[in-house]
Amino acid sequence: MKPPTNTVDLLPILDAVILHSMEEIIGADEARSVLALSGLSNLGEERRFSDSPGLLSFEKLTLLQNALEQAYGPQAGRGLALRIGRCSFHHILRLCGAELHLTDTSFRLLPLSQKLERNLDTLADLFGHIADPFIVEVKQGESKFVWQMSRRMPVEGKQADSPACSLIVGLLQESLYWASGGKIFKIAETGCMAWGDSLCTIEVDLHPIG
Ligand SMILES: [Zn+2]
Repeated sequence: MKPPTNTVDLLPILDAVILHSMEEIIGADEARSVLALSGLSNLGEERRFSDSPGLLSFEKLTLLQNALEQAYGPQAGRGLALRIGRCSFHHILRLCGAELHLTDTSFRLLPLSQKLERNLDTLADLFGHIADPFIVEVKQGESKFVWQMSRRMPVEGKQADSPACSLIVGLLQESLYWASGGKIFKIAETGCMAWGDSLCTIEVDLHPIG
């Protein structure tokens, strides 16, 4: 079920949303340090002086998470990436919830399972259109939604010691919390390209835990 979105218009905001969220969660100075640590210092400057799309990529998300883990320790770094992802969802909703049809009355009135499916499909559509493309697919199994990300060109070798997509996991987690009116869903990345897998797999239980 693909919602009718014009995601092309939304491309330039994704990098800005993620970086702005990082500043909100860890502070502007710390965000600058993390960007420097990740080798992406220019990323922050580019976004301020240019609205060109294409700054976000799988590699850059991995580098950001690696830098957060290096600066704050592995567990705290992953926790911060999750929080940055959660914060990012709210900015996406604020900036383009209407264009994505997430704030339509027709969306709000859908049964929960369809609302979750539409929500995940909409975000997959959005992330699937960034300039260094992820191919994002959402599949529904008997007890889970499975969000899979791959690249047209496979990632070379292992780039992280654990799944590196906490930011995306946080974003999905918050989107499901929002779409369900405050329910919490078990969600975990069970395979990751940065870990050497052929694709990233994020599994979401269909039924909330609370
Ligand atoms: Zn991953």
